[in-house]
Amino acid sequence: MAEADDCIFCKIGRGEIPSQRVHEDGRCFAFEDINPKAPTHILICPREHVASLAEAEAGDEANLGHLLAVAARLARERGLDSYRAVVNTGPGAGQTVFHLHVHLLGGRSMKWPPG
Ligand code: 5GP
Ligand code: ZN
Repeated sequence: MAEADDCIFCKIGRGEIPSQRVHEDGRCFAFEDINPKAPTHILICPREHVASLAEAEAGDEANLGHLLAVAARLARERGLDSYRAVVNTGPGAGQTVFHLHVHLLGGRSMKWPPG
């Protein structure tokens, strides 16, 4: 499985950088965001290093679907009936870590459209 030596989220996935892990399985791992933007702010990452949604390929479809299914499960476990699952893609959309991740944000009211 492709991992990147110098990627911060690959390092978190391997346990080389500590995190508050809330879920892991063969396809993905999830942990609390270090700088939370909502009472619930969890990042869900594929184990395989994919830089962004823009780099995802046909073979990544199962992993991509799994990330959303895990986001929904974590939201359900936390009793969230409203939440956002967000994938910032590219610097112009606010992506700062180039290992694909879904943000699960919940626990406060949110505006639309996002800034
Ligand atoms: P992005 O801006 O790429 O969509 O999201 C990256 C997220 O990763 C940000 O919300 C940021 O707070 C979080 N983050 C960056 N470095 C770390 C870290 O070392 N540990 C954890 N837990 N979160 C991180
Ligand atoms: Zn990575």
